[in-house]
Amino acid sequence: DPACGAPLPVLGRDVTVPLVTGGEVTYAALDYAASAPALQRVWDDVAAYAPYYGSVHRGAGYLSQLSTDLFENSRVTVAEFLGCREDDQIVFTRSTTDSLNLLAAALPADCQVFVFETEHHASLLPWRDARVTYLNAPRTPGEAVATLERALADRDPHGPALVCVTGASNVTGELWPVRELAAAAHAHGARIVLDAAQLAPHHPVSVRELDVDWIAFSGHKLYAPFGSGVLAGRSDWLRAAEPYLAGGGASRKVARRADGGVDVEWHDSAARHEAGSPNVIGVYSIASACKALTEAGFENLVAREQFLIRKVREGLAEVPEVKVLSLFGDDAPRVGVLSFVVEGWNSSHFAAALSAEYGIGVRDGLFCAHPLVRTLLGSDPQTQGECGAPEAAPGEKSLNAIRVSFGAGTPDEHVERFVSAVK
Ligand code: PMP
Repeated sequence: DPACGAPLPVLGRDVTVPLVTGGEVTYAALDYAASAPALQRVWDDVAAYAPYYGSVHRGAGYLSQLSTDLFENSRVTVAEFLGCREDDQIVFTRSTTDSLNLLAAALPADCQVFVFETEHHASLLPWRDARVTYLNAPRTPGEAVATLERALADRDPHGPALVCVTGASNVTGELWPVRELAAAAHAHGARIVLDAAQLAPHHPVSVRELDVDWIAFSGHKLYAPFGSGVLAGRSDWLRAAEPYLAGGGASRKVARRADGGVDVEWHDSAARHEAGSPNVIGVYSIASACKALTEAGFENLVAREQFLIRKVREGLAEVPEVKVLSLFGDDAPRVGVLSFVVEGWNSSHFAAALSAEYGIGVRDGLFCAHPLVRTLLGSDPQTQGECGAPEAAPGEKSLNAIRVSFGAGTPDEHVERFVSAVK
């Protein structure tokens, strides 16, 4: 739809790759859900800043002060991008995985955690030291809310509780009813953290409007390079917790005690959980990506992506052997992420053929969401994971799936090539 505008310029758009059939073709990166190509604008901002970067926070020199300003201003940009509340803390981490592990380490004593079995492993696994309840996969958004409400109604109402939920599935791309889940959590005195790794790159999010207590995402899925992430939200649990890492930057005062030990006073700010020299370039590139998405008009990007996902859906619907995976039904709203299996094909061979014969980069496997993919495929819970997954015999159900995913930088041609290759 020309009204949706052009894709945003990203790195790698002109990279060519060889084909087994001879010749070469421009690479069609259709694995944005794993890592999206960096926006050209982010790369340019980083290149402009790189000659000037210096150590942040305590350097007296001009460049250290400049870097400190950029680093701290990045917090403000990210807070605005996420629609944070005034007293929310923005903690810079390495990734979504790191952010959720940080929160897990900061849970108050005796905290109960509620998490759907459908989560990505990054949001499924960090709570294993807490009193965690794993909720069964719901088959509609309404069932998700009802399942959570039932579990919360049974909980000990006096202790602290946390719900962890993903905003958009990295397997099906389906949107989860975050606002309703947050309302249910709060009605039962629980808090909620949103794993926005797949939501934030595809959809404007507002912590305030969704009324979630924390949000986590990764820079490398939001069109910035690898190595940085965000945990943003309520400061009270974070302030009360032991620092995620002990070290310089997190400590305000350190002194020897008369008995020979060491006393530490930790910072109360986000610095408490950011010990060590931070990833200034990574943080700055997240802020640059947030600005670029906002300035491009996020609604236009969403409209364009929805246009592309419709093309994919319609194209795949013409291939009877293709089965699209979905939890909430085929027409459920989803971001530009979709997984499928092809009857009579091993998914790994299919993905390898898309690469070797068409220069298309997709992903195959269980996508770090093993329980969810097994539920969607109806396979035995004990089948193996990505590594060494046995192949399904002819006529048997697939044991893994193929995922195609795209976003703000995807030209129409990549999606068209994918659809005709599948056909
Ligand atoms: N949550 C979801 C929904 C994801 O898709 C991913 C990455 N695939 C993660 C968490 C983990 O992100 P990272 O690897 O950047 O920590």
